[in-house]
Amino acid sequence: MLRRISTKLVLAVLLAVVLPFVAFAFYINEQMGDRVTRHVVQPVLLGLVKNLAGQLDYFVRERRMDLEQWADSQLTQNALDDDRAEQGALQLALRGEAAAHSTPDAAPWGAATAARLERDEVSLQTFSLQAPYRAQLMAELDKNLDRSLEYDLVLLVSPDGRLVTCNGKRPTAQGTEPLSQPFLEYLFAYDYSRSDWFPLATQGSFVRVDHHVSPFHLEFGHSGQSSFDPAWDYALGFAAPVRTPDGGPVRGVLYGLVNWKRIQELVSTQVIADAFRGLVREDAAPSAYAWLWADDANLILAHPDRALYYERIGEDLGLPRLTQTVLEDDDGWGLYPEYSFHGEQKNAAFHVCSSRQADGFGWVVGVGINNEDIFSTVEELRTLLLGGTAGVLALAVCLTLFIARRTTGPIRELQKHVRRVAEGDLDARIDIRSRDELGALAEDVNRMTSELKTQRERIIKAEKDAAWREMARQIAHDIKNPLTPMLLSLDLLERARREHAAGSEEILERTMGLIRRQIHNLREIANDFNEFTGGKKAHPSAVEVAGLLEEVLHLHDGWAVERRVSVHKDGAAAVVWADLGKLRRVLVNLVSNALQAMPEGGELFAATALEGSAVVISIRDTGVGLTSEARAHLFEPYFTTKSEGTGLGLAISKRALEEMGGAIELIGAPGGVGTLARVRLPLHRPRASGAGQA
Ligand code: ADP
Ligand code: MG
Repeated sequence: MLRRISTKLVLAVLLAVVLPFVAFAFYINEQMGDRVTRHVVQPVLLGLVKNLAGQLDYFVRERRMDLEQWADSQLTQNALDDDRAEQGALQLALRGEAAAHSTPDAAPWGAATAARLERDEVSLQTFSLQAPYRAQLMAELDKNLDRSLEYDLVLLVSPDGRLVTCNGKRPTAQGTEPLSQPFLEYLFAYDYSRSDWFPLATQGSFVRVDHHVSPFHLEFGHSGQSSFDPAWDYALGFAAPVRTPDGGPVRGVLYGLVNWKRIQELVSTQVIADAFRGLVREDAAPSAYAWLWADDANLILAHPDRALYYERIGEDLGLPRLTQTVLEDDDGWGLYPEYSFHGEQKNAAFHVCSSRQADGFGWVVGVGINNEDIFSTVEELRTLLLGGTAGVLALAVCLTLFIARRTTGPIRELQKHVRRVAEGDLDARIDIRSRDELGALAEDVNRMTSELKTQRERIIKAEKDAAWREMARQIAHDIKNPLTPMLLSLDLLERARREHAAGSEEILERTMGLIRRQIHNLREIANDFNEFTGGKKAHPSAVEVAGLLEEVLHLHDGWAVERRVSVHKDGAAAVVWADLGKLRRVLVNLVSNALQAMPEGGELFAATALEGSAVVISIRDTGVGLTSEARAHLFEPYFTTKSEGTGLGLAISKRALEEMGGAIELIGAPGGVGTLARVRLPLHRPRASGAGQA
């Protein structure tokens, strides 16, 4: 795959262009996320949390102002006056002295009260509201509630812990509703002197109480349910002392109970989420929200998730470091970046509200947002960037492939051409299409090919000439050898005839014998050349090799006797599929070579043996053996070490045997003296059908 130029090009483009692009995309992505967090989200979080803490502080301060304002009002003083007068009258009435000691102020209703009390027509409490200033204060408080709905209860309490008057309505989800009679009665019967705020307030301090649970919850839960709902029943109490108009002693306490829902509303303002609306998709809601802890920076007092009320940040939610960070912070506000809660990565900011010493409760406000939101824009951008990258990648690959194809096309054509030339087609030509380096290269290759063709033709012609010259030289040489003895014999015969020498008859006989032998020799030479030039076609048939070897040895009997060579024959009969004439010539040549190698006599061993599916004919002599030069050139045509040899015998034998599916080798004879020639031929296996191998 990587061996193709186009693939390499594509890879190069990928590495050089796309990889940096992708890396850049990821870098930008990282940078964006980081910058959005640091430069947008965290400042906004800090701003929100600070703002929220301010609002809470303001809310708490406002409650003090409300109560102190009411405490200072003439109406409150009057109501307390009412109460005092009534108390006096009541005491008198109860003692049955109403008629006797009637004062102008208290008489008209003091007597009536006593009378009605005696008849048990009204309870002590409802009776108390008959007094005009108290009723007026009640109406005033109700009016205020109608306007702002900040308080669940506002109670004016006498220094001895009795209720003087209170609001007559309470806020509901829809507006206000009158307090029920039983609840009113309950409030009037309540002994406020046992409340935790009472002693401090009667000593003249403004008191803020974080009740956690409304003191009136058990009997009259604000939620109307018997079970405690922290969002509803959690309550804050504010108690302001009421002094005489000249700033004298405390003559009563004004106590306001604020429903926790007010705080809850402040904390769960939509503003928090809205601040981050720009970060998320248009249809999605930002995950940002605020929450409130107690001054220990641990206990959760308000949270959009109701289930988390009264959970402890450190112990229950597993974020002890958050508490620690807040407590260790010096300026009371800061960031709590990059933490994990409920499987979400978040960023948050916190702010400590006014302390208990400074008009507050020391609450801690937190505002947090999921990282997912922060990265939503970035993610969109990343998708865009990655999409762009993918597009660029696809385009780059396509373009590269296109260019690569355009470039490698001619190269491949050149390659094909060169291959054709290598296979011998020197007439092949490449179309030159481009004017660039490849075009020039193609032109050069074309020129080279035609030069190659001319050169090859020249070489072939030269080789042919040389071959013919060599052949002619060889033939001339081979023919000349027998001619000389023939000419000499004829000269001798002619001289004998001319001189009428005795025994000329015998000379004639000898000469004729010699001439016949030399003619035979010449015919052999002619046969050799004919065979070598491939003159004869093969006519294969089933040949029994042992018999053929016997016949060839027999032919050489006379020669062997002449050379004092004893011949040994051995071996089994075996049939091969071969051209009889050619195989005979092979054997004749091997036997002659062996005899020629033993001018001083020796032994010749001829044998046939079966080896697997082949027959091996071996002919071993005890002659001169093979020189290393002979070993290297044995089967080359015209290689000979003999004056009368053609050097064609073994070359022809090798070719003939290979045609028959056989092989030949010549090695030094085992024992070190002479030569061993081995011919191997596959055994003939006639087919059962008799179709044969013809
Ligand atoms: P030629 O017999 O005409 O020389 P061959 O092809 O038959 O040609 O043999 C080639 C050469 O191989 C011989 O000239 C000789 O040197 C060597 N040769 C072949 N057979 C033998 C042998 N049995 N002993 C030694 N040399 C051999
Ligand atoms: Mg020979």
